[in-house]
Parts: sequence; C-alpha cells; structure tokens
Amino acid sequence: MPRLSKSRIMSSLQCLKRVHLEINRKELAHYSRQTEAAFALGHQVGERAVQLYGRDGGTYIEYNGGRFAGALSQTADLMSSMFRIPVFEATLQYEGVLVREDVLLPVSEGGNDSWRVIEVKASTRLKPEYVHDCAVQAWVHLGAGHPLAGISLAHIDNQFVYPGDGDYQGLFIEHDLTEQVFELLPAVPVWVEAAREAVAGPMPEVPVGQHCTSPYECPFIEYCWPNDTRYPIAGLGGGKKKLGLWVMDGYCDICDVPSSEISGETQLRIHRVTLEGVPELLPGAKAFVESLAYPRFYLDFETIAPAIPRWPGTRPYQVLPFQWSCHIERAPGVMEHAEFLDLSGAPPMRALAEHMIEDLESSGPVLMYTSYERGVIESLAGMFPDLADALQAIIVRLVDLHPATRANYYHPDMLGSWSIKAVLPTIAPDMDYAKLEGIQEGVGASEAYLEAIDPNTSEERKEEIRKELLLYCKHDTAAMVRLVAFFANQPTST
Ligand code: SF4
Repeated sequence: MPRLSKSRIMSSLQCLKRVHLEINRKELAHYSRQTEAAFALGHQVGERAVQLYGRDGGTYIEYNGGRFAGALSQTADLMSSMFRIPVFEATLQYEGVLVREDVLLPVSEGGNDSWRVIEVKASTRLKPEYVHDCAVQAWVHLGAGHPLAGISLAHIDNQFVYPGDGDYQGLFIEHDLTEQVFELLPAVPVWVEAAREAVAGPMPEVPVGQHCTSPYECPFIEYCWPNDTRYPIAGLGGGKKKLGLWVMDGYCDICDVPSSEISGETQLRIHRVTLEGVPELLPGAKAFVESLAYPRFYLDFETIAPAIPRWPGTRPYQVLPFQWSCHIERAPGVMEHAEFLDLSGAPPMRALAEHMIEDLESSGPVLMYTSYERGVIESLAGMFPDLADALQAIIVRLVDLHPATRANYYHPDMLGSWSIKAVLPTIAPDMDYAKLEGIQEGVGASEAYLEAIDPNTSEERKEEIRKELLLYCKHDTAAMVRLVAFFANQPTST
C-alpha cells in the first residue's frame, strides 16, 4: 500500500494522472520559476506563523530527508504529554496517509482536552480547495485517535500595515472551516482510495484541459501537452478547455486546427498568420511611433512584493520598486541612459521616486510595455503625497507600447504571446533574453535584490548582483527602443 501525503491527495483531486506521475515518473516534472518561488514563499510564511502562534512557547517538529518515523513519534509524545503546548508541523498518519499540521493548539473545554488545527496559506483569500486540504488533515487527525475541537484556515491579510519592530500581530486572518470540513469527511476515504489506485495501477488516461492549470499549475504540462511540433497548439491561446478538446481530436499544432472550428478573433489571427508563415506588421505600428514626440523616455521598473512586509508602513504583497532604467531618445537615434538602483537595504521607494522625477524631466512621452509601470507610479504617489503632483505629471505622459504592438504586429514564433520576451527574439534575435547572463526575468530580479540586501551576503556577491540587475533592467528598456525602431523602419504588410 503506497504511503500518500496530503499534497498527493490534493494532486489527485486535480488529476489522477498527475498523482500517478508524481510518484512513478517524478523525473518528468518541470516546476516553473514562479512555482518554485511560491514554494519558498510558503516556507517563509509558515515560519512567520510559527513565531506568531508560538509566542507563548511550542515545539516545532523537524524531519530529515523524508524519514518521518522520528517526526511521528515526537508528535505522539507531545500530544500525549500532560504538558500540552502548541505543536508546529505536527506529523500524523492514518491508513497510510501522512499529514503535517502547520499549527496545532491545545484546547481545554468543559474538562475535556482537545486540539485545534490551523492550516496556514500564503494567499490573501480563502479558496475552495483549502476546504479539501483541511478535510484530509481532519480525517487523518481524527483517524489517528486525537480529538479535534476545530480546524481553521489562516491566510495573509493584505490590508495589514506593518508597524515595524518585528510586530506582525494581525498579519493573518483566520476562517473557521470546522463545519464545512466535517461535512466533507465521508468523502476523504473515497479520495484516498482513488489516489491509491491511480498510483499503484497503470497511468490513468486523462485528457489535457482546464484542470492542467487550475487550481494549481501542474508540473507535467510539458509532458502531457503536445510540444514536439513547430507551433504547439497551446500557443493558439484562449481557454484551456477548448484547447484540450482539440488535443483530444488529435490536433497538436496550431496549423492542424481547421479555421472553421475557430471563433475567437485573436485565435483566428494567430492561426492565419501562422498558416501563412509571414509575420504581420500593420501600418498602424509605424503611424503610432511617428506620433511620438521627442525626447522619448523608455521606462521600466524592477520591484518586489513581499508577502511579509519588510519596511514599516508597507502592506503584504505591496509592489515596491527598487530599481528603474530609462533610455532617453533626444532625437532619432540619439540615446542617453539613466538608471536607479538601491541595494542598501533601506526602503528605496522615496529616493527612487525623487530621482525618477528629476531624470524624466518635464515633457516628452514616457513609454512603457504594459500598464505595470503606471500602477507602480500611482502607488508611489499614494506613499508620498508631497511627490504626488510631480508623479501625476509623469502618469499623464505615459504611453503603453503593448496595446499598439498587439494591435499591429504578430510573428508566428511568438506562439500566442505579446510579452516583450516573446516579441523581442522575432525583431532582434541578438537581444533574446535567453542570451542574458545571470538574471533573465522579473522573478529572478526580485530574488537577486532580496539576496543582495541580506546582511549575510558578501560584498563580492552584492557587486555581482548589482551588475546583473543593472544589465537586466537596461535590457528591458533597450528592448523597447528596438521595438519602436523596428516599427519606424519596417515596410508594412497589408
Ligand atoms: S498536465 Fe494535465 S493531464 Fe497531465 S498530469 Fe497534469 S493535470 Fe493531468
């Protein structure tokens, strides 16, 4: 009988093929940078929960390299002790299902001793799948012979404002899920049995579809979705449900799908251009860039959005810029460059805003790619009311290159994406982000910044990160310069 963890049961509820692969073919899994960052975040949030719930004592159950025997017996000892204290990562097993309970608090009511379980999540809202997660825990908890007074879900309150001095009281919001969880308990053994059969038997035949990214991104997407073709069908975009139906019909490449089966305007365009094999560049692109006055400012931020606020006055997941790059085009082809990066570890936002106000001068379009930069500047204006007028003056000069690109340009190699990282290799292969040494995308930039401001990071490493960050952010604005030049100089298709 294969042992299953709560995570595996949750995987099986998403897809029986996924749980089979996780146990039998784990080498096929591919975790995106975002997913790995989410795992790391979960650990950080869990550690903060231990500090908050354990302020009056408590024991954390360690485990080594997947050997749970020690963790199980230590948990059993603590739960049977007459000195009842909070237990963190309490490890319990029932019918071959193993759970680690984030927070286990002793409860005494009417002379009866019991426990309250709190599951901690890094998200900012209660999601339906959390009830299933808690139901598996409750089933194991009760099955292992321990009374359960209640089970709650604690998630981050994104309205919490950090007052400083390590005071994180109020960081979490708790939801009592006891009633919903107890209603679900009879279903848990059915889930467990289905998961066990999927693991022990041949690989279940599950077609790809919406469930591949919902409620979680599955690490086997590269394995299950067609990808050994020039233009994999996922690049057609639209809903995963419809794409999955096409895959079931045997269509693997965008070109396989008959146009009579496509109804969405964007999908039809992607399909048509891909079939024609010739990039589409409409006259609107050239007209758009010709309407831009000089000097032109090409602006890009790098930011962090820590789940656990670092600086007083900030909220969980608040987007906080620490760097910007700006290429300034005074006249056609006459370029200057300005930049800001603060790796001191102090809040960088104020100095960043002041330098930006100065370097972006008072007139000329400020080009960005997507509206992200607008949101960052609006947030800075909210943080520093005395700078709000000057920041607002920049906001009214913002020009978004993304919608103009989307409306006027498509290359089959973009595979359904108009992100700058998808567009750039098609117009400037020498500038492909994949060729950058070190940091190649935004998550990497955020992680590098946090590493650089960590007091344990050596000066040598910090310098290395500084160079990589400056290079990466400058690359982002240079990419926009190249895109505008491409639009200005290319003959257009009709
Ligand atoms: S990619 Fe989709 S079909 Fe394949 S295992 Fe994951 S969820 Fe299941």
